[in-house]
Formats: sequence, structure tokens, C-alpha cells
Amino acid sequence: MVKRNPNMSKLQAGYLFPEINRIKNALLEKNPDAKVISLGIGNTTEPLTPHITEALKNAAAGLGTSEGYSGYGAEQGMKELREKIANVFYKGMVSGDEVFVSDGAKCDIGRLQVMFGSDVSVAIQDPSYPVYVDGSVILGATGNYNNENKNFDNIVYMKCSPENNFFPDLESLPRTDLIYFCSPNNPTGAVAPKAQLKKLVEFAKKNNSIIIFDSAYSQYIKDPELPRSIFEIPGAKEAAIEVSSFSKPIGFTGVRLGWTVVPNELKFEDGALVRNDWNRIMTTLFNGASNIVQKGGLAALDDNGLKEMDSTIKFYMENASIIKESLDSLGFKTYGGVNAPYIWTLFKGRDSWEVFTEILEKCHVVTTPGEGFGPAGQGFIRFSAFGHRENVLEAVKRLKEKLA
Ligand SMILES: *Cc1c(COP(=O)(O)O)cnc(C)c1O
Repeated sequence: MVKRNPNMSKLQAGYLFPEINRIKNALLEKNPDAKVISLGIGNTTEPLTPHITEALKNAAAGLGTSEGYSGYGAEQGMKELREKIANVFYKGMVSGDEVFVSDGAKCDIGRLQVMFGSDVSVAIQDPSYPVYVDGSVILGATGNYNNENKNFDNIVYMKCSPENNFFPDLESLPRTDLIYFCSPNNPTGAVAPKAQLKKLVEFAKKNNSIIIFDSAYSQYIKDPELPRSIFEIPGAKEAAIEVSSFSKPIGFTGVRLGWTVVPNELKFEDGALVRNDWNRIMTTLFNGASNIVQKGGLAALDDNGLKEMDSTIKFYMENASIIKESLDSLGFKTYGGVNAPYIWTLFKGRDSWEVFTEILEKCHVVTTPGEGFGPAGQGFIRFSAFGHRENVLEAVKRLKEKLA
């Protein structure tokens, strides 16, 4: 028999969505006619837009011809797409050869964790997107789970709550090798302004840490004053890697396309370029993103594609306004939902699993209990703006009727 990787049994967060489903299925067993609406998971719901769909179709059709066929491409992605990402999303702040195209941001986070290995200390925002912790746990970089405080012994938790404007008191934190930071944030919807990111970069540089900046929702930022990339901060190229994605801005959650920027300036302790190791990881463990999908990504970055991207984001952000206004009108304190598709809602003094169950049973609406994203999520519920409009309208009608 094969010995199981002992780190696998330390995983905690894997229980979040299965547990949500278990409670939902129990409701459906009691009440088989319940029309359950999900404002729970961060999954896109609207169809791909016409111009982008057309590019995917043409790319697939091209592969069926001898002129159009191609096999393996560059592991780092098509040169044209790398340059277009650098120019359109980063306005030339990074160059095409610092952009590595991939099958998604989550997959890149996993590969970054492989690159850094198990002998690194990590800091994460609390609450946060589960893969930062779980991937670190699998590699054995976290120590044991402590049931009392619901923390891993060797992870530094950067509490992000309304009390600190969702930005940690950095000076009180110990040095770590890696700092995961997500803005716009999933689950809180908070977006770090330039002054905060400047502090973060200064802190990382002072400690010789590397920031892994997750900007999967950057295109949801409407406020022109808010930074869409860590590289808008001077000096960040010596201290940060950025992972990002086409999933949320154009609905490529199932299509799969993302990228990671590893600046040429970023170095390890011994002076070796991080970029060279990342290139080695990508050429060893990854064989390049789908050529069809990369053509879709290219189409998303031309004039028509960008218009379609705007309309997709506008649609979800209208959902966010509808949800946020309804919760506000019921007297709940809400955060996020303005430059991010999540509404982080406080149910003061309540247990988030209990509130989750109450909303499900009374309104037949699935949400996500904040505690599932970390101990600081206790008392909060995350409402996701991803949904068909009629479902969102029906869900808020029920919330107003049943939670008032
Ligand atoms: C959805 C999401 C991702 C996943 O992106 P993919 O490119 O689909 O793998 C990454 N980070 C955050 C914070 C997300 O919410």
C-alpha cells in the first residue's frame, strides 16, 4: 500500500463547499419543491459574448485545416498575447516577456507554491481565497492545524476587517518569505488604494519578502483612483509577482485562461532571477495554454473585445448594486460590491453558519458563510453578484420579505 501524503489530512477549507451542499441537499429533501437560488459561489453565469465566441470558433476551425494547424506552442504563451496583456492591462508597465500565459490564476498559484517549495513562511489575509492556505498546506509549509483558534501554527494571518479598513497593521506582523494579497478582494470586496499598496510594497522590501498579488478581479475596478495592479506602485517590480485571469472579466471560468507576471527585477536571496525559475517550472510542469483559448484572449483585448468585457462586467456589477442596496435597505452593514462583485455583509454577533442556514431555510437562497474563508469571516456572509438577473431579483425579493 502507498503511504498517504500526511499533509492532505491537514486540509481544512475543503469542507466549505461540500458542507454548503450538504445543508442545501438536506433542505431539498425536506422541501423538494424549493426553488433554490445560488448567490454562493464565484462562478460566472452569462454566455460568452459574440466577438470573443467568434474568435474561439475560428481558431477551432483553423485547426481543422493544414494551413491553420499547430501543435505545441511556446509554454510561456503566444508572443502576441503576452505583449497585448502587457500593453492593454499594464499600459506597458511590464513587458511581454515578463507575462506568462497559463490555464488560470488558481493553477498558477499552485505552481508558484511548487516553485517556492515547502521551506518558506507565508502570510495570508484573513479572510481569504482558500488556495493560498490549502496549497501551502499540501506542500507542508504550514505546520499543524489548531482547532482552538482555527489557524495553522506556521501561517501568519493578516486580519482584514472593517476595524482596520480591511488592511492589516503591517508593523505588528513578523517577517515571512511570502505575502499573499488579493485586491479587489475575494471574499470581502475591499480594494486597496495606492497608499495601502505602497505600504505593502515597502514592508515587503524592508523584509526581503515576495508579495504574490492576486488581481483576478482588477477589471471590476471602476474608480480610476484605485490601482488595478501592484505594479502601479513604484519599486513593486523588485518585490512582487502578480497572478491574474480572464475568468471573471469575460466569463472564461470554464474556458480557462490566465497569466502571471514575474518581473525581470525580482531576485532570490542568492541573486538568481525568480523569472528563470518560473520559466523552468512552466516549461517543466505546463505545456502551454490551449491555442484556441489564447486566440479568444487576443480577441478579448482588441477594441470590440474590450467593449464586450466592459458590458459583461457592467452586468455583474448591476447585480452587485441590486444586492447591496437591498441588504442596506434591510439595515445590514455591507462592504464591497462597488469595485468588486462580492458583497460582504455583517450579521453582528451572529454565527455565520447559523445565518447561512437561516437565509437558506427562509429564503431558499444559497450564500457563503464568511467563516469558511478564515476565522475573521465569523459573523459575515458573502453574497456573490454572479447570477442571471431574474434570479438575483427574485433572491432579493425573498430577502426583503423574509429577513425584514
Ligand atoms: C476566481 C478566482 C481565481 C481563479 O482564477 P482562474 O483563472 O479561474 O483559475 C483566482 N483568484 C481569486 C481571488 C478568485 O476569486
